[in-house]
Amino acid sequence: MDKTVDTSENIVTLPGVKLELEPKIPTPKSDKIIENAKKLKKLSKYPCDFDFETYRKLELRFGHEQPRGGITFNTPLKLVNSHSTCQQCLYAFEIDTYGRGCTHDCVYCYAKAELTAHGYWNRPFPMPVDISQIWKIFYTVFETDKKSKWRDVLEKRVPVRIGSMSDSFMYMDKKYKVTQELLKLLNYYNYPYIIFTRSDLVAHDDYLELLNPDLCSVQMSIASTNDELNRMIEPGTPNAKKRLKALQKLVRNGFWTTVRINPFFPIYPDGYFTDPNFDKDSMPKPFNFSSFEMVDEITSYGVQSILAGMVRLSGFSLNQIEKATGRNLRKFYREDNKKNSRDFHYSDKEIRAYYERIHAKCIQNGVQFTTCYIGNGENHFWKDQDLWSNKKDCCNAISRVKAFKNPKTSRDIPWQTRMKHTSHKCLTPVDEMNLHTPLEKPLLIEKNSISINPDFTSI
Ligand code: SF4
Repeated sequence: MDKTVDTSENIVTLPGVKLELEPKIPTPKSDKIIENAKKLKKLSKYPCDFDFETYRKLELRFGHEQPRGGITFNTPLKLVNSHSTCQQCLYAFEIDTYGRGCTHDCVYCYAKAELTAHGYWNRPFPMPVDISQIWKIFYTVFETDKKSKWRDVLEKRVPVRIGSMSDSFMYMDKKYKVTQELLKLLNYYNYPYIIFTRSDLVAHDDYLELLNPDLCSVQMSIASTNDELNRMIEPGTPNAKKRLKALQKLVRNGFWTTVRINPFFPIYPDGYFTDPNFDKDSMPKPFNFSSFEMVDEITSYGVQSILAGMVRLSGFSLNQIEKATGRNLRKFYREDNKKNSRDFHYSDKEIRAYYERIHAKCIQNGVQFTTCYIGNGENHFWKDQDLWSNKKDCCNAISRVKAFKNPKTSRDIPWQTRMKHTSHKCLTPVDEMNLHTPLEKPLLIEKNSISINPDFTSI
């Protein structure tokens, strides 16, 4: 009998009959995930109803052509405050529910710059985390006395930051529901969290009902309310109006919300506000993406707090911005402020001038204000604190959210624990005593280092 087998398509054709076989997968990861989840279901009291077949379906979708790195993202939890660029950060304990890309595809994104160079960005799209791994960690710490490298951090209930190298509230989560499952887990284990997102999905009913205003602070990034430019610069994000309406809904439902104008893009070239010799006649035309006036619009939606962080850009991001908008922002930067060939920064004085103007707008509008120093050097953590409405916390969640009343933060994690969680062994150990100082005392560890921590870059 004539028989044709097409192994690439898994089709067997007999005369008059065509049989489609299950596609073969070379190394089925999903089998292992489903097996682990079954074991956990027997052991843990957490009432998990997540459909782990999701991973099998995803794997089958690719058949023989599995994406590079597989169908799951493998680093669900990270502690990144050993690097000199973020040792003062209070929320350096992170969970990303997706990795190897982000559908928002912001042209200035540092994760995009890093992962594009390694050939991983959105190829073919962001991959979900194996949520059973996160469940296993929480189960081990809170339901057993077994050894876990995360016990130190979790038992202190150091708030976890959701969304760093990828946005956990991309619309694709409606299909994969991994972020939904994470929220259920955090609620079950009564674990505090801070959400960084650029998506209104966070306030859709099926997400809102999973969020607990006593456990979480929601931070929405809005670099601009100019949606014409947003479409070019953040092509995959929901427009600013949608994000503001989502915030309004969150506020009405009792959540503590912050708008991160981070990155805040410069409007004029460096020196415009602070250099008495600045030549205004021959400067390039203003870049009207971020603006001081956007504070008025943001506050009209009832948001309680605004955080600003002046943009720093890589050469890759500058090229991407030029491609998207036709504007070459390199002309805005001064050679003497370049920290290295990759990083373009504004001068400290000029950054301060921007913060003072945003701060004044916040006071006018009766909204709180803080700044984020990440990316611009540790000196900004100390010298801009006088502008903060909440001196205890640059992210302004402490004392604003019930579970953040008197929390231990990633800043309280001992140095030895930090070192267990890093591959960046670039630092000298610090005196343990110093790690428990109030915000007013510097913990400067590595001077003059303003490189970018690849783990702590995007949202
Ligand atoms: S900046 Fe954030 S939201 Fe934008 S692409 Fe990067 S990870 Fe996604």
